[in-house]
Amino acid sequence: MKAKKNIISLKPYQVIDQPYLLKLDANESNNYLDDISLSLQGVEYYPDHQSKSLKQALSKYIGIDSSLMTIGNGSSELLDLLFKAYIEPGDVVLSFDPTFSMYEIYANIYGANYIKVPSNDDFTLNMDLMISQLSLNPKMILLCTPNNPTGFQIPRKDILKLLNLTQALVVIDEAYIEFSDQNESMIKDILIYNQIAVLRTFSKAYGLAGARLGYMVSSKDITSIMNKVRSPYHVNALSQKAGLMALSKRDLIFNNIDEIKRVREKTLKTLIDLGFKVYKSQGNFLWVKSPIKALGIRLNEKGILIRDFSKDQSEFYRITIKQQNDMDILISSIEEIINETK
Ligand code: PMP
Repeated sequence: MKAKKNIISLKPYQVIDQPYLLKLDANESNNYLDDISLSLQGVEYYPDHQSKSLKQALSKYIGIDSSLMTIGNGSSELLDLLFKAYIEPGDVVLSFDPTFSMYEIYANIYGANYIKVPSNDDFTLNMDLMISQLSLNPKMILLCTPNNPTGFQIPRKDILKLLNLTQALVVIDEAYIEFSDQNESMIKDILIYNQIAVLRTFSKAYGLAGARLGYMVSSKDITSIMNKVRSPYHVNALSQKAGLMALSKRDLIFNNIDEIKRVREKTLKTLIDLGFKVYKSQGNFLWVKSPIKALGIRLNEKGILIRDFSKDQSEFYRITIKQQNDMDILISSIEEIINETK
């Protein structure tokens, strides 16, 4: 039995699956709920199909009516559903490069013509270059801001400029927005622009990557389409509860985000002193060019996982920022490697 042609040639998403001492490869955060045990009461029934309580709690926090929200199994599922609902084979999908690798994978699954708009040499993103590609008549444009893996945040005014020039569905992936120093979220703009969908996740700032929980905020039209394509009861009851609990701990979580931002700036300076090229980041990670060859493999030998991009971009890596003590372990391991190389 043969799968579809475009699926046979697809490369699956790469996940490092091995024991480790320190995990800095997937932009996860602390666990804020480890003192809470979740009751299994009620699991004999299907979960709330609309995730109503979670949406209401989110609504208070983001100031958007819960009728304009969709909850998903991570923002990954929401991305998948957007492609499923809007993309026909051959449709043009635009995105910057490098960016979150799943965009290309979804585009290939749905047979889209995925066009990458290159970043500037310093990994800032050039919206005018994206705008010049509008002549290709894209059906969907994916903007990751702050961008994974580079940490660059697209200025709001640039996104507004794009929105005023296209009818395409513009997906704005704000997975890392809580770590940004700038208040540039596009979430309120869904009330003005019918064509945008803003994606957020509980996997990063909220420390719930294992619960698989994300949300999307979009116009009435897009939200009603999402309600047509999602599977029944797709978000499980335990994850809905975990999301509610995380929202009840927002003060603690946001104090920690401030801490991560401080550690990010300190780590950036330390890595520059060690000879790295480090790019200013608005996420909980740093995009670096290493002065040491095969840094990813050498850290891996010491039990430290970082995300290795060196196959595509020589000696480029993405390193998750965690607490200072974790960064101390990373830095002393890098110093050891530098000394071993001398
Ligand atoms: N968007 C971006 C930019 C990401 O980096 C990730 C996870 N790495 C996701 C979406 C998906 O996150 P999740 O499915 O865990 O919400």
